[in-house]
Amino acid sequence: MDFNLTDEQELLIDSIKEFCERNFDEQKIREMYANHGMSDELIQAYLEAGFGLMGIPEEQGGIPCDLVTLGILTEEFAHYSGCITPFLNNTLAMRDLIDFGTPEQIEMGMAAYMETGKPIMSLGFSEPASGSDNMNMSCVTKKQADGTYILNGQKTWVTQGEVFPYVLVIAKDEDNARENREMSMWLVPKEIDGLSTAPLQKIGQQIMPFCEMYFDDVVLTEDMRVGKQGEGFKNLMKNFETERCLIVAQSIGCAQAAMDDAAAYVNERITFGKPIASYQLIQLKLAEMEIALQNSRNMLYKTLWKMDNGQSVRIDSALLKRYACMECTKVASEAMQIYGGLGFTTETRVGRMWSDLRGFQIAGGTDEIMVYIAGRQLAKQYARK
Ligand SMILES: Cc1cc2nc3c(=O)[nH]c(=O)nc-3n(C[C@H](O)[C@H](O)[C@H](O)COP(=O)(O)OP(=O)(O)OC[C@H]3O[C@@H](n4cnc5c(N)ncnc54)[C@H](O)[C@@H]3O)c2cc1C
Repeated sequence: MDFNLTDEQELLIDSIKEFCERNFDEQKIREMYANHGMSDELIQAYLEAGFGLMGIPEEQGGIPCDLVTLGILTEEFAHYSGCITPFLNNTLAMRDLIDFGTPEQIEMGMAAYMETGKPIMSLGFSEPASGSDNMNMSCVTKKQADGTYILNGQKTWVTQGEVFPYVLVIAKDEDNARENREMSMWLVPKEIDGLSTAPLQKIGQQIMPFCEMYFDDVVLTEDMRVGKQGEGFKNLMKNFETERCLIVAQSIGCAQAAMDDAAAYVNERITFGKPIASYQLIQLKLAEMEIALQNSRNMLYKTLWKMDNGQSVRIDSALLKRYACMECTKVASEAMQIYGGLGFTTETRVGRMWSDLRGFQIAGGTDEIMVYIAGRQLAKQYARK
């Protein structure tokens, strides 16, 4: 086992730190949260620094790298920026498009991405009655005599749904009955007739607003289909494992930033004539926060390493998300506790980190669904032969 970083990874971390010091201070971050977005210049700068190209294939003009390195980028960016930015989501959207899109869709998406640093699409998967329970999906397309398809239904919690010009919609083919497992993905322009949106207010991660989307007799053409007919769900599930791991990388970075602040503060805050660092109850918090961070990080990079080496991470990625997202929220919660009253104000950033982290216990599959995925597999794995 080699836990050392390569020279390139060390350099990457130095350049992330330098980029974040230049572009993210508390004042700027607060403006981003208040404005529900960041400037086009900053998004462009992220791309030009090469970060936005990492994990994108060379033939598309990207900088290919292994998942361990993509994990390091994601973790350290969240750590040094001290907030949850849209950059990971943007990269994941581009990877989905490249994996499943037609050559024409990829060309259009990459051209826009290279120019603006923004992906062309958001991801419309969840519905009011179908978040964890995907089969309960109501969105459905029906083929017409002229070869077009009519899409009806609703999506919700679509991250950046009102920001990007397209949405990748998953809908059942022909019949939205529960038993029908045939679903397809469609790249739907936001301005198309019959599509409307309504904003939703988030309690964290406000740089990336989400929205509801309504599809009322939206006419789709065959060239809008992404991936093979009937394989939409299967395709998307494939990329979920990577997404879950990288969500964890972002969570660890954010929780580490909360730890940095709280562990420094214990030396500065005096109560009863002594720094609070001298109290064992405070030391216990620091020790448990550090254990949570180290365990989460070890699980993360082992899982990413397994993926890089072609090994199955079906169980590992679910266990990782289940464990690490809960633990990272706890780290931020304990950081708030260490700050006392100050932790519950906007004078410190730990409260914002806590509410940002809380969202990751739901997004990308809930804590409970991770147990559902891993638990059944574990029972099979440990069954006596
Ligand atoms: C920050 C954020 C960003 C998001 N971005 C997107 C996006 O871009 N696109 C998109 O399509 N969706 C997005 N979502 C939606 C997200 O994927 C869903 O919220 C999530 O899958 C849970 O679905 P639900 O909200 O319908 O909860 P439900 O499925 O209704 O679950 C409610 C509760 O019941 C539990 N539960 C459900 N089934 C079981 C079971 N079988 N066993 C035990 N417990 C169970 C759940 O864990 C949860 O605690 C986002 C959500 C968040 C919070």
